[in-house]
Amino acid sequence: MWVWIIGCKKNYLRSLIILLFIFILSCSKKTLSLYHRSQFLMGTVVEIKIVCDDETIAGEAIDQAFTKMREIERIMSAKDPKSMVSRINNESALHEIVIPPSLVEVIDTCLSYSADTEGAFDISIGSITKLWDFHQETPILPSEESVRLARKRVNYKWIELDKEKSSLSLKREGMSLDLGAVAKGYSIDQAACVLKRFGISAGIINAGGDLMLFGQKPGNGPWNIGIQHPRKKNSLIENLRITDKAIVTSGDYERYFIINNKRYHHILDPGTGWPAWGCQSVSIIAPSAMIADIIATAVFVLGPEKGMKYIERSSLIEGMIIDSAGKKYYSTGWKQDAAFQNLRE
Ligand code: ADP
Ligand code: MG
Repeated sequence: MWVWIIGCKKNYLRSLIILLFIFILSCSKKTLSLYHRSQFLMGTVVEIKIVCDDETIAGEAIDQAFTKMREIERIMSAKDPKSMVSRINNESALHEIVIPPSLVEVIDTCLSYSADTEGAFDISIGSITKLWDFHQETPILPSEESVRLARKRVNYKWIELDKEKSSLSLKREGMSLDLGAVAKGYSIDQAACVLKRFGISAGIINAGGDLMLFGQKPGNGPWNIGIQHPRKKNSLIENLRITDKAIVTSGDYERYFIINNKRYHHILDPGTGWPAWGCQSVSIIAPSAMIADIIATAVFVLGPEKGMKYIERSSLIEGMIIDSAGKKYYSTGWKQDAAFQNLRE
């Protein structure tokens, strides 16, 4: 009898201690919250959203990520006359210029994709992009002659990059680099690295619809995202659940004007010097936002048939193409890979 009572008391006491321990633990365990901030960067609104259990760390991590993006913009923007790319465009025709490691990395990657896409992607497109202004009230088409002349200065093979010396020179007078099709993707990747260095294990970086998603959203599960309909404003054409991937879209509906029922937009075919006409939009899913950014532009230029063949060459890349008639094409894995958990079905 006594033994039973003592045993009972012992059990009671043990339970009480365990309960007290759990209570103390639960008091000290911080709850996960979603923190987000936006800034205007690279010509678009960039939103960083992260899951964190500490407001101070979250704020610092987001600040540092934005600082990194701004730093990259200062190096890579062709519109900022003080940027490194502007310096290259002004000074490096026919002589060498030393460039920072980030530029070596980006230009080296671009050159390999130019070779791989037979020049559909070409960062030496600058002399042609300069002829277009999509912000003016009354749009003006560049003349055939100006496009023809500018096209003579476009060829990625004339960009000479020396990785050992971290230097670059442009081999033709009047050549101009434009990293508009890759800088956003690169800066998204770099911002994600900064967040991860702060120990952030889940978040989204959204630069005007170009996204990097990692970890799980609060309450678990992948993030839900939507892809803009290329012809219906504020309407989505696709919903996806996705994580630990980047998804980037190149479309003809952000920067464009229409003259005589023809849509002139900012994704140019280096072969003709005029906008690429085969697609309305291309979305690419890839492990890196820089690669997704490059391939989205390249596939847009290649057009639906060649573009889809290009996407299908790599098991790490998936894509959705909307052709000029509005027809949708999906790569095999876009529909089948369970990791993408496409909600359409
Ligand atoms: P967005 O700027 O809407 O994200 P893209 O990633 O497709 O779209 O980039 C388009 C920009 O890339 C253009 O504004 C121009 O600066 C540049 N560009 C246009 N055509 C090409 C091309 N064929 N190859 C490389 N860059 C290009
Ligand atoms: Mg791009």
